[in-house]
Amino acid sequence: MKPTLSELISRGKTLISDGAWGTILQAKGLKPGECPEQWNIDHPEAVLDIARSYIEAGADTIETNSFGGNSFKLMSFGLENQVYELNRKAAEISRLAAGDDKYVLGSIGPTGKMLVMGDVNEEELYDSFKNQAVALYDGGADALVIETMTAIDEATIAVRAARENTPCEVICTMTFDHLKTGDYRTMMGVSPAEMVVALKEAGAHIVGANCGNGIEGMIPITEEIRSVDKDIPVLIHANAGLPVLNGTCTVFPESPEMMAAFAPQLARAGANIIGGCCGTTPEHIRKLAEVLR
Ligand SMILES: [Zn+2]
Repeated sequence: MKPTLSELISRGKTLISDGAWGTILQAKGLKPGECPEQWNIDHPEAVLDIARSYIEAGADTIETNSFGGNSFKLMSFGLENQVYELNRKAAEISRLAAGDDKYVLGSIGPTGKMLVMGDVNEEELYDSFKNQAVALYDGGADALVIETMTAIDEATIAVRAARENTPCEVICTMTFDHLKTGDYRTMMGVSPAEMVVALKEAGAHIVGANCGNGIEGMIPITEEIRSVDKDIPVLIHANAGLPVLNGTCTVFPESPEMMAAFAPQLARAGANIIGGCCGTTPEHIRKLAEVLR
């Protein structure tokens, strides 16, 4: 049987993950205000092309085009009844690119609803994550990656929904900002150390960080995670730096070479799965794979 990600990591392997999907979809013609997940049905070849480009670049794990595939986000496009179809298709496309050997991580992003604001209740959030997780599993996801989380209550509900309704390994990563004090906190005030404790208790197999302000800042974040837990597998998906506006275009400043230069130090700090987030491309992943292998 295929080993789980945690098993591979326990054998000392550093795994290479994929890079951005959203910014690549935009480069392929996704318009502002258009639903990215609808592309799984309308432009499956374009989505498959992204998945394949990361496998060809050397990724061991690739995500799915389903980051905004929860009922709340899809509602803003009038697609709330398509949760199952859009997510299952997302996983099927990545499965096709990954073949049997590589790993498909079903992407689950935040709902945009805040429990603390009373936007939504716990049961509604749980059901939304459950429906998305089940569809991704049905489409062939090996693991689920709950990502870009900022609120610990939403993150833990998503982890529980994924654990209790699928047999998948569950990964959860949060997005940290660098404060003037030097500390790292999510927008909702969660530290990396607090995250590890809460997500482990909720049942996450793998924790970590994604997005944020570039790969260098992921090193102290990983060190903080490791200061409270030496063993839990850690996944890091770093942005290609903070986006800067160049005329009317958003550009990400970190080149593949810049990202790759920090990757060995990130691995030594304790990251087990390393890939990219916004602004990263197959070329970033190719360079990461070169230096880490
Ligand atoms: Zn990102």
